[in-house]
Parts: sequence; structure tokens; C-alpha cells
Amino acid sequence: MLPIPPMMLTTGPVPAYPQVLAALGKPVLYDYDPAFQTFYAGVIEKLRLALRQDTAPVIMQGEAILGIEAAAAALIARDDVVLNLVSGVYGKGFAGWAARYGKEVIELAVPYDDIIDPQAVRDILRKRPDITIVSLCHHDTPSGTLNPLPEIGAIVAEHGAYLIVDAVSSFGGMDAHPQAHVDIFITSPSKCLGSTPGLSLIGVSERAWAKIEANPDAPRGSFLSVLGWKGASEPGKPFPVTPSIAEIYALDAALDLYAQEGPENVWARHAQTADITRKGLLELGLKLWPKKLEYAAPTATAFRPPEGFSDVALRDRLRDEHGILLSLGRADTAGKLLRVGHMGASARPDFARATISALSQILSRPINS
Ligand SMILES: *Cc1c(COP(=O)(O)O)cnc(C)c1O
Repeated sequence: MLPIPPMMLTTGPVPAYPQVLAALGKPVLYDYDPAFQTFYAGVIEKLRLALRQDTAPVIMQGEAILGIEAAAAALIARDDVVLNLVSGVYGKGFAGWAARYGKEVIELAVPYDDIIDPQAVRDILRKRPDITIVSLCHHDTPSGTLNPLPEIGAIVAEHGAYLIVDAVSSFGGMDAHPQAHVDIFITSPSKCLGSTPGLSLIGVSERAWAKIEANPDAPRGSFLSVLGWKGASEPGKPFPVTPSIAEIYALDAALDLYAQEGPENVWARHAQTADITRKGLLELGLKLWPKKLEYAAPTATAFRPPEGFSDVALRDRLRDEHGILLSLGRADTAGKLLRVGHMGASARPDFARATISALSQILSRPINS
């Protein structure tokens, strides 16, 4: 038997809402039962409304990295020049896929406590009119920093390039939508929507579908195929593989909660929780990881461990003495910071206050006694 989890203020997976857990326990239907196909079409429609997009989204059967890799494979053709914007671990990671499928990858990188300057994007696009695709990680979670998507989206649109955005840890916790001139928008149920990891949610623009269909190298008949899931909710169209029925139920419950609470109210709850966390950390004399307060994402707060503590020691004491679990850094930010997730069910002001109070007790008694 696994232990009861601590209060998980993590950056994904996050604690699933009780209604999501209940949905996971519903009877598993046969995927070709018309009842399931109708249900699936309903989930696609709810997701389309949540994404605020005209085209029907696709759901792929694997945690969000599948969606990001599949997006690269589908959209990036042999003659494409990709501008990869890098302000953190996930942004950097995209370069590998871009290089695999495209002709050339140009990188615009900043230190991982900084964010991408839209003006720098404009300058590169002017210098390199042959850039056809731009990729951006909106909230690079291992740094807790948020890139200016609307501004970058407008600049990329003006240039005419396609824009791929990893919005895995921003969508659902703030105003982040494909409307910001995004051609492929990838997100996940297991961050701000408060569902479980295991699906990729992908919004694809009309013109991106046209480009994908014209790309002879876009995967077809492959687990990596976005095309295979296009129109999967239409009557009579077979699913390319059996969907995880339970996870579709869970996603449905999470989308209902999001709509019922009201997206604007959900975002306000995330912003308020982030604000209380940041003020509390600063009052304790701790240093935020982002170079400027405005760079911090509303869905996670990264801060540096105080003198005398390693990241791991602080994480362990919070967990063992207070039952609060934070995330550490990852890859290039590992060892340098801790992260408080404010995503989905954990985006609660009272949780933020409990965390600050626990930290204050630990810092006033640095030696574990
Ligand atoms: C969580 C997350 C993903 C999903 O990837 P995992 O590393 O498997 O969790 C992708 N992009 C971002 C920005 C994320 O926060």
C-alpha cells in the first residue's frame, strides 16, 4: 500500500481533483461502443472550448512530451529552418527534435533566470527571412519563468512563420491560448487542469494542418502520428490505437471543473496563490530564481535555497516535518533551486500560507533537532 501523499505543491504531476479521481473509477467502455464515441466527441468539444480555438483539437495517448515530439515530426519538413527560443530546459530540449526533422536550427538562448526578449526575436527574423518555424516553451517549468507569448506570437505572425508552443505548464492556470498566433499548441491534463499524466492535448491551426498534410515525412501509421488522431471524434472514424478510456474520463471531469469554476476565476486563484507565495518568500529573506519578479510564472515559483541549506535538505525537511512536498530543479537548474507549484487543486492561498509558515519555522531552526 502506498502512503497517503503529502501536500503536493509540485510542478506536475499535481494532486488530481477528487472528481477526477472518481471519474478514473468509472466502468471502462469498449472504444467502438457508440456510447464511448459520442462521449469522446463531447470531450474533444469541451477541450476545443477550453482552448478557445475554432479547429477541433487532438488528444494523443501519451504524456505531453509525446505531443511535443509528434508536433515537431509533423510540422517540421526537410526544408524548414527553425528558430528555437531557449530560456530553459524544455526550450533547449526541443532543439534535438527540430534538428532531426528540419534543415537547420537557429538558437536564440538566454540564461535560465531570464526570458526571451520579443525585440531579439524580431531582429533575428529580419536577419534570417528564411526562418519558417519558431518554437517556444511558454513557461519553462524548471526555471519558473514565463516568456511573453502574445508579443512573440504577434512578431512571428507578422513574419509569417509557423509557431509551435509548449504550453504544458501554463495553459489552464493563466490566459494562455492558441489565439496568440500559435499553430501548434501543446498542453497536458496533469498540470494546471489537475488531472493525471498520460495524455497530450494539442491545438492545431487550419494552416498547420495544411502544412502537415503536405509534409511527406509527417509520421503516418505511427504512434507519433498527429495525423492519425485528426478527426478521431468524427462518426465512423476509427481510433488509430485504443485510447486510455479512464484517462479520457479523467480529462472530461477536469474540463468540467475548469468550465464550472470559470477560467478567469481559475487564473485569478493561480495568480493570487503565486503572489502570496512570492511575497512570503521575499519576507523570509529568500531569493527568487527569476532575475526579475515580473518574469515569474503564475503557475510555479522557483527560489534559491538559503545559505546553509542544500535544495535537497530543505525539500526533505519540508516534507518530513510539515508534510509539504516541493519540486527541485531539473537538468541545468538541478541543485540550484526549489519550486513551489501552484497548479490546479494546489493553487490555493491557504496552501501558500502553510508553505511560508513551514519555511519560516525551518529557517528559524536551521539544525534539525
Ligand atoms: C511537465 C512539462 C512537460 C512534460 O514533460 P515531462 O518532463 O515528462 O514532465 C513538457 N513541457 C513543460 C514545460 C512541462 O512543464
